[in-house]
Amino acid sequence: MRYGRIEEHPILKFERGRKVRFTLDGRELWGYEGEPIAIALLANGHDVFFRMEDGRPRGPFCMIGKCSSCLMVVDGVPNTRTCVTPLREGMDVRTQHGEPGLPERVSDSFVPPMEIRRSLVVVGGGPAGLTAAIQAHDLGVEDVLIVDEGMRLGGQLLKQTHRFFGNKKYYAGKRGIEIARILEREVEERGIEKMLMGTVIGVFRESEPRARYTLGAVVKREVNGVYKTGFVRILADAVIFATGAAEKYLPFENNDLVGVMGAGGIQTAMNVWGLRPGSRALVVGAGNVGVIVAYQMLQAGIKVEAIVEIMPRIGAYFVHAAKVARRGVPILTRHTILRAIGEDRVEGATIARVDDRWNPIPGTERDLDVDLIALSVGLKPSVELVQQAGARLRYVGRLGGFIAVRDRYHRFAPFGYVAGDLSGIEEATTAMMEGKIAGAAAAHDLGRAPPREASRVIREVEEDLKTFRSGPIGRRIEEALRAVVVEPPPEEWGGEIGD
Ligand SMILES: Cc1cc2nc3c(=O)[nH]c(=O)nc-3n(C[C@H](O)[C@H](O)[C@H](O)COP(=O)(O)OP(=O)(O)OC[C@H]3O[C@@H](n4cnc5c(N)ncnc54)[C@H](O)[C@@H]3O)c2cc1C
Repeated sequence: MRYGRIEEHPILKFERGRKVRFTLDGRELWGYEGEPIAIALLANGHDVFFRMEDGRPRGPFCMIGKCSSCLMVVDGVPNTRTCVTPLREGMDVRTQHGEPGLPERVSDSFVPPMEIRRSLVVVGGGPAGLTAAIQAHDLGVEDVLIVDEGMRLGGQLLKQTHRFFGNKKYYAGKRGIEIARILEREVEERGIEKMLMGTVIGVFRESEPRARYTLGAVVKREVNGVYKTGFVRILADAVIFATGAAEKYLPFENNDLVGVMGAGGIQTAMNVWGLRPGSRALVVGAGNVGVIVAYQMLQAGIKVEAIVEIMPRIGAYFVHAAKVARRGVPILTRHTILRAIGEDRVEGATIARVDDRWNPIPGTERDLDVDLIALSVGLKPSVELVQQAGARLRYVGRLGGFIAVRDRYHRFAPFGYVAGDLSGIEEATTAMMEGKIAGAAAAHDLGRAPPREASRVIREVEEDLKTFRSGPIGRRIEEALRAVVVEPPPEEWGGEIGD
C-alpha cells in the first residue's frame, strides 16, 4: 500500500480525534476530526489535489502551509491550503482546476473583519517566536500576541523526534516534540494570547501615535462547526518576526509529480499526523534534515532505497548518518537525481553519479523502484513579511539566502525584530537563543524592562550563543553573520542597550 496510517511507532503514539464523514467531489469518505484535510485525503488514497491549466497534477509538498501544492476548494472557498485546514464533519472538499473563481456565496464563507491592538505581536509560534514571547512577557510586556498559521504552537519542533544536543538550559537531551510541549505550557501558564490558524499576509510601518506597525491577518474561525475566514487588522507597537523557513526545490525532470515532497513535509505527515506518505523512498540530500528524516521514515515503516548526495561528503552529523547506514541504507555521495518516473505520481526515479563539476556521468544512470522522493536540499528564510516591513535584505548563501540586515539585538528597524531561521538558517537551539534576545530587546525598547535587566539577559544569551557556535559549523555561521549584523546598533533603531 502506497499510503497508510501509522499504528505502531517506536517513539510516537497518535491520538486521533473522532471519525467524521466528508465528501470529495461528492464522494463520501471518512477521516479523523482535527487532522488536516490533506492527511485525511492521503489516508483515503487520494493524492491529486488540484490540476494546473495544462492538466499537470499537484499533491502535497511542504505540509506547513508554505507552498501552493495542496490548494483545493473547501466548503466553497477556493485556494484553501488543505495541509493546514483541519477536517470537520460534513466538509465539502473539491479538486481544484486551474484558477478557480470566487466563492458563489461569499457571505456564507466569511466573518466580518475586526481590529485589535497589542503592545507586542510575535509572528510565528516556533521555538524562536515562543521564547521571544515568553522573554518579553517575563520582562514586563503584558499584552503579547502570538500569531501562527499552524494548528498548534511549536513550529518545526512538532515533528522532531530526535534528541537535542548542546546546552541543558535549552533542553539538551530532550526530543523536539517534548520541547514544543514545554514551551507551549510556558506560554499557557503566563496567559500569553495566541491566534492559531492566523496567517499574517501584510505588514505596514505606520507613523505614531496610532501604531508603529499595522498587520493584516487572515484567520480561520469555527462558527457552528464550519470554518469561516475572517480578516483581522492588528495594530502593534512592536513586532518580532519569527516566520521560520521554507524547503528549497530542485530542478529535475518531472519534479512536480505527486510524491515528490519536501523531507520536512514527509516528517510532518509521519510524525505529527501518523500518516505514511509512501512505501519506498529516495532521499535527495544527506544534510542533517535528509538523514534524520530517512531514519524517521524507517521508523514509520517506509523502505529507504538510497540517499543521494551531490557533494563528495555527507553533511549530516556523523551520529545520525551512522544510524541510517547501520540500517542498511546506502548513502551515495557524488550522486544526484536525474528524473522522477511516472504519469501523475512517482513510480520510480533515475539517479546517476556526477563528476567534479556536478555533471552526470553518462552510463552511470540507474532506475530505483520508489513511490516517494524526499527533497532535502536546504531551507530558505521566509523573509516576505520583513521585506514588506522595510528590512534591508542581503544574500548570504551560508545562511540560506536573503536575510535581513540587523543589529546585535536582532532589530532591523525601530521596534521591528527578527529571530530564528528567518534571520539565518541554523537549528532550533539557536532559534530559542535568538528569540530570547529579540524578546528582551523588545521589552527594553517598549520601555517595560529596565535597561540593566534587559542587558543582563541579552549578555547571558550572547555568551550561550558564543559557546554553542564554537565548533567548526558554528564558527562559519558567526563569520557569515558578519555580513548582516551592523555594529554599533544604529541610534535610529534604538542604539545600545544597557551601560
Ligand atoms: C520543514 C523543516 C523541517 C525541519 N526539520 C528539522 C529536523 O528534522 N531537525 C533539525 O534539527 N532541524 C530541523 N529544521 C530546522 C529547525 O527546526 C529550525 O531551525 C527551527 O525550528 C527554527 O525555529 P523558528 O522558530 O525560527 O521557525 P519554525 O519552527 O519554522 O517556526 C515558524 C513558525 O512561523 C509560522 N509562520 C510562518 N509564516 C507565518 C505567517 N505569515 N503568519 C503566521 N505564522 C507564520 C509557522 O507556522 C511556524 O509555526 C527544520 C526546518 C524546517 C523548515
